[in-house]
Amino acid sequence: MRYDVAVIGGGPSGAVAAAELAKAGLSTILIERHLSNVKPCGGAIPLGLIEEFAIPDPLVEKKLSKMSVRSPKGRTISMRMPNGYVGMVRRERFDSWLRDEAAKAGATVTEALVRKIDRSSDRFTIHLSKDLPPVEASYVIGADGANSKTADELGFPKNDLKVIAMQQRFHYCDALKPYEELVEIWFDGEVSPDFYGWIFPKTDHIAIGTGTEEHRHNVKHLQRRFVEKIGITEKPYLDEAAKIPMKPRRSFTQERAILVGDAAGLVTPANGEGIFFAMRSGKLGAQAMIDRIRYQKPLSAYEKKFRNLYSPIFFGLQALQSVYYKTDRLRESFVAICEDRDVQEITFDSYLYKKMVPAPWSVQMKIMAKNIYHLAKGS
Ligand SMILES: Cc1cc2nc3c(=O)[nH]c(=O)nc-3n(C[C@H](O)[C@H](O)[C@H](O)COP(=O)(O)OP(=O)(O)OC[C@H]3O[C@@H](n4cnc5c(N)ncnc54)[C@H](O)[C@@H]3O)c2cc1C
Repeated sequence: MRYDVAVIGGGPSGAVAAAELAKAGLSTILIERHLSNVKPCGGAIPLGLIEEFAIPDPLVEKKLSKMSVRSPKGRTISMRMPNGYVGMVRRERFDSWLRDEAAKAGATVTEALVRKIDRSSDRFTIHLSKDLPPVEASYVIGADGANSKTADELGFPKNDLKVIAMQQRFHYCDALKPYEELVEIWFDGEVSPDFYGWIFPKTDHIAIGTGTEEHRHNVKHLQRRFVEKIGITEKPYLDEAAKIPMKPRRSFTQERAILVGDAAGLVTPANGEGIFFAMRSGKLGAQAMIDRIRYQKPLSAYEKKFRNLYSPIFFGLQALQSVYYKTDRLRESFVAICEDRDVQEITFDSYLYKKMVPAPWSVQMKIMAKNIYHLAKGS
């Protein structure tokens, strides 16, 4: 059988894309190498995503409105989100629910590793593992993560900036009790010299992790130091690690193929948030593909729309990371600035619904003055 669209990779981006295509009546196959895959991930998602994709309550293990940030000197700023929360999901359950939604919408979900893709003038031939017959499709969506095989096979530009992130899951113990209902972020050069460390509670465990630019530092050492600094003496029951591509590829659209989610590099700098952008790009990409098949509109509309919507956020967070993630002195200043209520409000509003919320001039001037003060003081 020849499908209209083959979606390669059954994480959040691929599952959302497949559901959208199938709902529109296009014949769609979703190819995932391991249906029982446990993607290494903190599983923190914003309220806006939960609402847009109608994520059912039982999948959202915690709804956390309390958050704190910790500086290299151990100064902790506590914050509360007045109008929302960070949802905590467990990826093994979340991804599987999303794939079920795609199947319910009519997509064929297949477990197989994509090994090779051949392209002819009107179709792709996708070669699979396990001696399965190749799949033919008129269009392809590459949703196969940071090391995308689809991107390599189809000759997309390279995915260059990657962070390597490690996470460990711990059962609750005395040292972790204070974190049961709290998201905590550590800005501390000993935990990460160029990213941050996180403590994310779930119902029956806490996920603790850190990241650093690939090849620059040893992430295992950083993680060990982080765990020591928190004061945990118990052993984790699961270690996980994966790459995070924190820079969009130069281009992620071709004539008959697109990349979505991590495959396209759609994770924001500074906070490494990728689930929201994976699902939004999956949806936007699928909608562009529906328009391509029905009305011969170019697939480039997808990339244009994504960039129009989210480039300011990527740009702002890149600037923040470039300024503040360099030294402990700068990290200390960053945490000090987080104490400001206006900064908290702007940050939470932008995080929850992914909209850049312009602050009034008076607030901008006040924040700038505080910025200069803390940077000069080094606090
Ligand atoms: C340690 C860590 C913590 C993170 N924490 C957060 C967080 O708290 N919040 C957040 O928003 N983001 C977080 N991220 C980023 C987030 O996990 C990703 O951005 C998100 O998973 C991207 O979704 P995706 O569907 O594009 O790719 P993925 O989730 O990576 O899915 C790709 C899928 O493709 C499959 N696949 C790969 N190759 C093939 C192939 N050849 N054939 C068939 N199938 C294939 C894989 O098995 C996988 O299921 C974190 C990342 C890491 C590494």
